[in-house]
Amino acid sequence: MSLRRLLLVAIALTFSFLSSFVLATPLHIIAAENFYADVAKQVGGEYVSVSSILSNPDDNPHLFEASPTIAKSIAQAKIAIYSGIGYDSWMSKLLAGHSHLTIIDVASLIGRQDGDNPHIWYDPHTMLTFALAIKQQLIRLDPAHQASYQHNWQQFVASMHPILTDIDSLRQRYAGTEVTATEPVFGYMFAELGFKVRNLGFQMAVMNDTEPSISQMKGLHNDLIEHKVAFLLYNLQVSDPMTEQLKTLAQTHKVAIVGATETMPKGIHYQQWLKQELDAVQKVLKK
Ligand SMILES: [Zn+2]
Repeated sequence: MSLRRLLLVAIALTFSFLSSFVLATPLHIIAAENFYADVAKQVGGEYVSVSSILSNPDDNPHLFEASPTIAKSIAQAKIAIYSGIGYDSWMSKLLAGHSHLTIIDVASLIGRQDGDNPHIWYDPHTMLTFALAIKQQLIRLDPAHQASYQHNWQQFVASMHPILTDIDSLRQRYAGTEVTATEPVFGYMFAELGFKVRNLGFQMAVMNDTEPSISQMKGLHNDLIEHKVAFLLYNLQVSDPMTEQLKTLAQTHKVAIVGATETMPKGIHYQQWLKQELDAVQKVLKK
């Protein structure tokens, strides 16, 4: 074979390799937070690749700044997901100009508005609504794999039933239980459980990085000292002097403390994450 012919063969081979590579490339999805990425992957299965921007449990999502590397991976994506209502407002800057993207804003999907508690993924119904939306978008963008997306989505919905059952049984036994928290990360789950959450003003001030008022501070301290609450919930991803001080105060007065993480811990799925946190709540209530 002449060198020229060899070259042509090589070029043809490279081209066919490249084109088959392009066709086999899974549909790329980028999610701001790892729990949406996880559910998108569960529904998309083998036909999607998923990356999330916030996956380090040590990052504080409220204070996150996106890097240029992330902007690059957005350019490769077909679908972008963010939580919305101000939680990850850096996403709108990143997504600006990427008109090729299908964007899912989860908060507007469930009808939440600015000023609402932004930790919407702690309501399992949020995730069920999101899973349906991602399934519909995948089928629209990649109809050839409709049966697979439909099947995976059904599996996801079925796998959420034990969580909803756990919530129901906790609610039946403990609805009305008064609890408090250092911040509102677990608010929607408390609402699902029918718990009465005290010191909401204090919690919102902390979340918004403003100083709680003296009366808000006193209110929370008194609730712990006078055992007005079944437990104090705190954010495991926040370690600041105030959180530490409140945990210590609770422990000194023999009030149980329960930690919850803001984003999903590594190596588990959304369903397992909620199950673990519900188990932690149940454990302190049983005592
Ligand atoms: Zn938060």
